[in-house]
Formats: sequence, structure tokens, C-alpha cells
Amino acid sequence: MRDFAAELEQRKQSGLHRHRRLISGPQQPSLTSDGQSLLSFCSNDYLGLANHPANIEAFVNALPETGLGGAASHLICGHHDAHHRLEERLAAFTQRSAALFFSTGYMANMGAISALAGRGDTIFSDRLNHASIIDGCILSRAKVRRYPHSDMAALERMLDETSGHKLVVTDGVFSMDGDIAPLRELAALCKTHDALLVVDDAHGVGVLGPQGRGSVAELGLSEDDVPVLIGTLGKAVGTSGAFVAGPQILMDYLVQKARTYIYTTAMPPAIAEATVASLDLIERDDERRAHLRDLIERFRRGAANLGYQLMPSDTPIQPIMVGDNWSALALSKALEQKGLLVTAIRPPTVPEGEARLRVTLSAAHTRADVDRLLAGLSACRALSGSVVEQSA
Ligand code: PMP
Repeated sequence: MRDFAAELEQRKQSGLHRHRRLISGPQQPSLTSDGQSLLSFCSNDYLGLANHPANIEAFVNALPETGLGGAASHLICGHHDAHHRLEERLAAFTQRSAALFFSTGYMANMGAISALAGRGDTIFSDRLNHASIIDGCILSRAKVRRYPHSDMAALERMLDETSGHKLVVTDGVFSMDGDIAPLRELAALCKTHDALLVVDDAHGVGVLGPQGRGSVAELGLSEDDVPVLIGTLGKAVGTSGAFVAGPQILMDYLVQKARTYIYTTAMPPAIAEATVASLDLIERDDERRAHLRDLIERFRRGAANLGYQLMPSDTPIQPIMVGDNWSALALSKALEQKGLLVTAIRPPTVPEGEARLRVTLSAAHTRADVDRLLAGLSACRALSGSVVEQSA
């Protein structure tokens, strides 16, 4: 048997051991954890909708109608009309022909990628893609070629060298860096090379684009440019689950082939009802997005003035680059002692030597919250390996 204890000890020695923090109460910026009040900058509830009264009401009102559990998989007898309504709503929201409701974003990526590519095909995957995309690629048994992050010249060379069926997959907004993929260039390359483009917009949906339709819509790209659009519902949408949206024929194909859609219990239908309510709010609420943008700019200005190294990101994901694991942990701990929760992100989630604090901002934060974070960062400046001394 493998020496699991030794492997765990080794993780501890190299600053890579992960810890599950216990949270009580609702997910909101002010959290209680182990009896301590903390102001959190770690959640992906970018619009502050996870506790919106209209969404909670939609969930509670649906329960007597739908019951609690999903009871069976979609293809057995679990496909409830609440799921179907949500799929139609998601198709309208994303301006796609059709959409499928998956139980998580992880499963949507695994299921869609492994169904749409197979043995003998080639998948081209950005080096910084999310773990669920990587796992989808592995499950597909296709040949996988990873291209350097957002490097379109490298991708073009690889596409030129490859024959057979091709699929290109990318995050829309990169989950640990916050930057946006070069989607226009990707769409153009995929057209000229007859490759199927799959975009996982887990962190763009709700936040970017007109009416929150995501990074793909922000660039004015349609179903013709990005045939397979994936999004999660547990982040800005504030509920749970995920979707794959695109041409009807591909959705029909996924119903037959996506193992993570077929072989799992359908989500509680009441979650689907709450999600429909949340999408209504997202479409209407430009003010939330404007407030969020204001907070992002305020944070970036403040943190850069303090000398912290940020990434070129205009999204709510604002990593503070630190470098080594122990420095990232020390900075996170020092902030926590000031009542600020910002988790340290270390390998293998990010590349070796690129440990960071992943600050995420939400429309549920106030300007005063951001100022409190900046004050904490100011007090902890000496702890960050990334701090560059300000020239006079
Ligand atoms: N894709 C990306 C880019 C993500 O960041 C995540 C979650 N962190 C997922 C997919 C998985 O989504 P879910 O949490 O709904 O499983």
C-alpha cells in the first residue's frame, strides 16, 4: 500500500497542505468562521445573489410543488418541467439555440468535452485551463495538446500540424488569473481550421457583457463563433449547477453521450426555479455590475499604490502575486488576524513559484469593505514577496 501518511506529511513540509475552513451562517462578505468575524474576499458570489430574497423566495415557493430531491437521472424519470423551463431560460439568456442543465460546472466540462472529442481526435487546451477541463480531456481519450496561455501563434502552429477532428477549449475568464481569453482570435482560428470551439465562461456569466451574458457576449460573439458555451450557476448566478449551451444538434448529441449528464441524479427542481429567478435579476441589474466595476477599479488602484503585484485583470478575480508558498500563507494569515479572509492559492492549482492571494470582489461588498482590505494590505506590506518598493 502507498504511504499516504508520508505523502500528507510531505505536503505539510512544503506548505502545500490544504485546510477546510468551517463557515457558519449564509455565504456573504461578513462571515463567521470558528467564532471569529471575518470580512471575506474569497467567494465567487460575484453579484451577491446567493442570498437574494427573490431567489430564496423562488426556491422556498417551489418546494411544495416540486418536492426536494431530483429522484432519478434526466433520462430515467428525473427530467422535471422546472429543469426544462430553466434550460429554455438558459438558451434565451445565452442567446443560444438550446441549453442543457448539468449538476455542476465540473460535470458540465467533463461531460461535454469527453462527449465531443474521442479517440483519434485532438484537443487543444490552454495551459491555464481549469481542472475540470483537464479532466474532461483525459476522460475523452483524445490526444491532448496544451498551448501556452492565450498564445494564438502557438495554437495556430499546432492546428496547422494536426489533421483529423479538432476541438479547442478555453476558460472565458481564467479562474486564478482573472484575465479574459482572446476569444475573437480563437473563434477565427477555429473557423479557418475547422475546429470546434468550447468556452467555459464560469467566471464571466453574470458579470461581463450586455445583461451579464458573459465574456463571449461582451465581444459580440455568437453561437456561430463559439458553438459550445459552458457556464456555472454556483458563482455569479448564486445558486448551483451549470449549463452547456449551443446548437440543438450538439445538445441532442450530449443528451445521448455526455456521461455526467446521463449517469447522475437530476438536481433538485427547486434549484432550477431559483436559478430562473436569479437570471431575471441578472438581466435587469446593470447597477450591480456597475458597482462591482467601481470596486474592482478601487481595489486595483489602491493595491498598485501599495506596491503589490497584480495581474492584468479587469474582472472580479484580482490575484496578488506572491511567489513562494510560505509567503503566500504568511500574508493570508496576517490578513486573517486583521479580520480579513483571503485564501492563499498554491500549486498545483497555480504553477510552481506562482503562489498568490486570490482576492475576489463582489457587488455585495461596499467601498468601505475594499478600503478595509487595502488598509490590511498596507499594514502587511512587508510580508509579501511581491511588494516592489515604490520609487519616490
Ligand atoms: N470552470 C471553471 C473555470 C471554474 O473555475 C470552476 C469552479 N471553480 C468550474 C468550472 C467548476 O464549476 P462548479 O463549481 O460548478 O463545479
